[in-house]
Amino acid sequence: MKSLLIRNLAQVATPVGFAARKGEAMGDIRLYTDAAIWIKDGRIWEVGDSQELTQRAVASDEELKVIDAQSQCAVPGFVDPHTHFLFGGARAEEFDARLRGVPYMELLARGGGIVSTMQHTRQASEKELLRIGMNTLSSMLSLGYTTIEGKSGYGLDLKTELKLLKVMGQLQEKQPVDIVRTYLGAHAVPPEYKGRSGEYIQWIIDEVLPVIKKEKLAEFVDVFCEKGVFTNEESERLLAVAKYMGFAIKLHADEMTSTGGAGLGCTLGAVSADHLLAISDADIARLGAGDTVAVLLPATAFCMRKAFAPARRLLEAGAAVALASDFNPGSCYTYSLPLIFGLAVIAMNMTAAEALTACTLNAAAAINRADFIGSIEKGKQGDIVLLDVPDYRYLSYKTGINLVKTVIKNGEIVHVN
Ligand SMILES: [Zn+2]
Repeated sequence: MKSLLIRNLAQVATPVGFAARKGEAMGDIRLYTDAAIWIKDGRIWEVGDSQELTQRAVASDEELKVIDAQSQCAVPGFVDPHTHFLFGGARAEEFDARLRGVPYMELLARGGGIVSTMQHTRQASEKELLRIGMNTLSSMLSLGYTTIEGKSGYGLDLKTELKLLKVMGQLQEKQPVDIVRTYLGAHAVPPEYKGRSGEYIQWIIDEVLPVIKKEKLAEFVDVFCEKGVFTNEESERLLAVAKYMGFAIKLHADEMTSTGGAGLGCTLGAVSADHLLAISDADIARLGAGDTVAVLLPATAFCMRKAFAPARRLLEAGAAVALASDFNPGSCYTYSLPLIFGLAVIAMNMTAAEALTACTLNAAAAINRADFIGSIEKGKQGDIVLLDVPDYRYLSYKTGINLVKTVIKNGEIVHVN
C-alpha cells in the first residue's frame, strides 16, 4: 500500500462533513495543532497528533513516504466551482476602456464583448485550446486549486461547444487538477439567433442536450438567467428538461437585476445558484431554507466595480455559501484565490473560517463533490494544500499573497512553489 505522512504541521484547519455546511455552521471548522495527516492509497486515513501518528505510521507501513511540513499549515485543496476557463483570445483593451467609462454598446460596436470571444473560440483549434487550458490549469494548481468546474459557452454553436467540452476531457487526462464539466450553451444568444432566444433554447433542448448526454460530455447544465439574456421561463424550460435527462443543474442568477432566478433555482432543485448581487430578500430566505448552494463571485463584483453579494445576510438566513472565481475574459480575468479570499473576509464580512469552508467543502458541494473532497478527514480524497504560514487566517491576513507551498493531489505531491 502506498502511503504518505505529512508530519510536523503547526496547524490543520478544515471544515468537516460530507455535505455543505450551512449558515452559522460554516464558521465551525476543526483545528488541530502539532498535527500529522496520514494518507493511504490516495485517501485520508487519519489526522491527529504529529508525534503519535508518526510513530504508528512508521511502525505499520514499509512503503511510507514522509513529508516534514516544518510548521506549515494544511488546508483542504481549494475548489473553484464556477469558471469559464477555456476560451480563445483576450479582451484587455475592452476591460481598460470600460473602466474609463466607455459605454458597453460602444465596446460592442468596437468589436468587443462576448461575441469577440466567441469568434476567437470558434476559430481556435483543439490543439490551441489544449495549450491555453494547460497554461491556465498549471497556474491554478500553483494557487492550490485541486478541483475546478469548467463551463463551455464561448462557442454557442454545436461544433464549438462540443470542442470545448472535449478539450476539457483531454485536459483532465493531462494534468492533476480535476475538472467538472458544465454545458453552458445558454450563455448568450448567438448572432445566428439574434432576437430569438426562445428558439435558441428549444434548439439546445432538441439538438444539443441529447448529444452531450449520449457522449457523456458534461455533468451539469447551466443558464445565464438575466434580464435581456434568457428569461425565467426560458431558463426553467431548459433546466427542467436537463434535469429530467439526468444532468445536475445550476444557474447564473440575479447578477445585474433581481429576476427571481435564485428562487427558480430552489424550485427546480438546482445544485447551485451563482452571482446573487441583486438577490431579493424572499430568495435569500429560500436559499436559507433549502439545499441550493449560494455561489458568490467577489472578484467579478470587484472588477466590475459593483456592490458585493450579501454574504452576511445569506449566512444569517442559514444558506450554504461557496466562493468561486468566475474566471472569464470579459468581466473577471482572474482566478486569484488570495484576492477572492481577501475580498470575502475584508469586503464581504465573512470570517476567515467561513471563507475557508466556502472555498473548500461548500465549493465541493456546489459541484456535487462534498462526499468526496473539500475537507481533511477520514475517507476523503487526499487533496491537501500546505501553506507556508502557521495559521489558516493568514489567507486573509497576508492579503493578496499566494501562501501555497506544496499541493498534494490523491496523496501525491503534484506541485511545489
Ligand atoms: Zn459565470
